[in-house]
Amino acid sequence: MSSTIYKLIPEDVHFMPEKANVEQVRSYLASIFPVDKISIEQSEDIQFVDQGENFDQITCPSCDTVIELKWWHQAMDNAWQSAFKDLDVQLPCCSAHNTLHGLHYDFPAGFSRLIFEIENPEEEVTAEQVRMVEQLLGCKIRMVNARY
Ligand SMILES: [Zn+2]
Repeated sequence: MSSTIYKLIPEDVHFMPEKANVEQVRSYLASIFPVDKISIEQSEDIQFVDQGENFDQITCPSCDTVIELKWWHQAMDNAWQSAFKDLDVQLPCCSAHNTLHGLHYDFPAGFSRLIFEIENPEEEVTAEQVRMVEQLLGCKIRMVNARY
């Protein structure tokens, strides 16, 4: 059976949350979803937060060209050498400068030190709930809807 995991990550890779705010988000999520479905991952290391089977394609945010996966894998390997601290890339299509986090992932994906996960909820996580998390945490949130 496949599973769906909603992963909420800060839009800003380097965002440093207040402990109290993280706890507020935990309480808020626990008021909506069963506690055993919620997990919070927080670490010093930046990790790639993937969308699993929901991966469709990656496009350039400057010119909308579909990015070759071979180029992307190479860029991921390069970034990994800095433990994802340096995510800067120059796009092969139009030479625009961006970051691996700033590319258009379809479905969304990204890089983060902080991930709120909700596994197989009976109801979808709504835009309104995401806005509430943004308010409690004090930053914009990117929702990564993963399927495995
Ligand atoms: Zn481009």
